[in-house]
Amino acid sequence: MISVLSGGVGAARLLRALSGEIAPGEINAIVNVGDDLVLHGLTICPDLDTITYTLAGLNNEVLGWGLNGESWRVMEELEALGGASWFRLGDRDLATHLYRSQRIIEGATKTDVTRELCERHGVGVRVLPATNDEIATVFKTEVGRLSFQDYFVRHHYDVKVESITIQGAATASVTKETLDALRNSARIVIAPSNPLISIDPILQLGEIKDILMERREDVIAVSPIINGAALKGPADRLMRDLGYDATCVGVADFYEGLIGSFVIDERDASSASAISSRGIDVHVTTTIMQDPLDAKRLAQAVLT
Ligand code: GDP
Ligand code: CA
Repeated sequence: MISVLSGGVGAARLLRALSGEIAPGEINAIVNVGDDLVLHGLTICPDLDTITYTLAGLNNEVLGWGLNGESWRVMEELEALGGASWFRLGDRDLATHLYRSQRIIEGATKTDVTRELCERHGVGVRVLPATNDEIATVFKTEVGRLSFQDYFVRHHYDVKVESITIQGAATASVTKETLDALRNSARIVIAPSNPLISIDPILQLGEIKDILMERREDVIAVSPIINGAALKGPADRLMRDLGYDATCVGVADFYEGLIGSFVIDERDASSASAISSRGIDVHVTTTIMQDPLDAKRLAQAVLT
């Protein structure tokens, strides 16, 4: 059994490739909930949904988020009413948020609802929110304090960030399912997700960092930064804003003490010695998962 600390898109691609190599039931995705929000009274969990949709083969490849075959009638009506339509929710996608919100009102946890949605969609990977408690990633920026979706969607992450706080992380409990998964996994993988806003909200919870430190030799991370740039999103810019190098070496420094091995891209091969001098085993391979064969090779590298 393996566990994969996961954000959204970068993690979903790796999980999809891993489930082609080992039985999906042997894979636990431990997922960030720091981007979750309540909007229109609905509980929305973007990273959990990205992973579930991708593993179900229902993800929208064109948009890079949401469901395929989507329509937008509800958003059009909402916009006409002058409602909050800046956060796009497709008609099909809305069913997920309606389902989740109702189940939570009935007393279900995010863990319960995620399991139910995975069963409905035939997803065999065990998709686990890291906590059922509310946590929120908040940005202190040059234009003031911003919630996650304000920063990401409204401002298109085009503002200088001074600090990031994961509100509620210090008191949130890690779920039993997540702790069991981490303890029983032969290997713990840190997906090529944004270190600061996808992985850190997981690491800041309870004993998760301690487990990784203790099990360091079994922990392997994949760099989301290739040749000094993120493939998507603000990872490179945030690393710089917060004082890290926006390179795979900067990512290795961010995970220092938590990882025994690190997978970097061929294009960063010249950084291998800087990383191994930090006492980390380095594997150099293709890490861009656009092509299914490359994704397969990366999954195999992570498993061996
Ligand atoms: P989000 O929550 O959907 O923004 O997703 P993540 O945090 O999981 O993923 C964003 C990060 O994934 C970015 O830093 C990307 O550089 C990285 N990423 C996306 N696709 C790939 C890929 O194919 N290979 C690697 N190495 N990184 C990727
Ligand atoms: Ca996310």
